[in-house]
Amino acid sequence: MLKRIILIALLIGLLTACQSRVEVKEKPQVMVSLFPQYDIVRNIAKDKVDVDLFLPAGSEPHSYEPSASTLMKIVESDLFVYSSDELEPWVKRLVEGNATENLMVLDASSGISLLEADHEHEDEHEDEDELAFDPHYWLDTQNMIIMSKTILEALIQIDPENETFYVNNADTYVKELQVLDEMWIDLFEHARLNQIIYGGHYAFGYLSHRFGLEIISPYSGYAPDAEPSAQALAGLMDILAEKQINVIFYEELIDPRVARIIAEQANVEIEVLHGAHNLSPEQKEADWTYISIMDDNISKLKKALDYE
Ligand SMILES: [Zn+2]
Repeated sequence: MLKRIILIALLIGLLTACQSRVEVKEKPQVMVSLFPQYDIVRNIAKDKVDVDLFLPAGSEPHSYEPSASTLMKIVESDLFVYSSDELEPWVKRLVEGNATENLMVLDASSGISLLEADHEHEDEHEDEDELAFDPHYWLDTQNMIIMSKTILEALIQIDPENETFYVNNADTYVKELQVLDEMWIDLFEHARLNQIIYGGHYAFGYLSHRFGLEIISPYSGYAPDAEPSAQALAGLMDILAEKQINVIFYEELIDPRVARIIAEQANVEIEVLHGAHNLSPEQKEADWTYISIMDDNISKLKKALDYE
């Protein structure tokens, strides 16, 4: 009997020892609200953190409000990266109303000079409150580089053990972004035209500001989801002919119904100019990245702007 008790005690001891040995240290949990920031985190941290882009694939972020269970996951994570108070006004309420002392909240726009919102294009920002700043700062590669450094610092703070790993990956990623930046510079240096027709919400202000790209809306004088009148269409055809424009761009994540009608009638091409707010489920499946989106944008713009 005593022998058996000793045996059982030994077994239990062994089991506990085994269990504690296989117990894996939990990875830091990182929650991210927008695709460009998510892409930076996964490029720098790779498999050292569990990172979750909680904006569902295919959703656009301007009218997004997270569910209660998502908010709970954010509060319980180690690091929460959001893009700005302009785009995610709900973050202020979250931080004020919750015990977040163990959570690091990072405004990824810190250190970036945000451009004032372009109120001339305000009517194209439907369903949105008046913005003080243009929230689409990630569309300038230089801002992606600043953001990579800000996010690197935050990752080191929550996980100092892996500092060297993060620093090395960030260096590599910033170099890739610099190559991309050179491609943008080269595009506008060699483009014969500087105007595009773009039937989406005003998202490319940072490109306009830096490179002088002029964005013309095909919807002037009517709502983006309405059928264009014959008169509006005729006006647009004149602009297309006069400016030698052969493509109408539309934004990602929407059905370009009206843009398609206009393009068909004007006999020009129709293409997506991707604002990188988020991926569609198909693009997520195909593992698109911020850099692959921009490579694609640049090659379409080369055609539209008569790059030589
Ligand atoms: Zn937008």
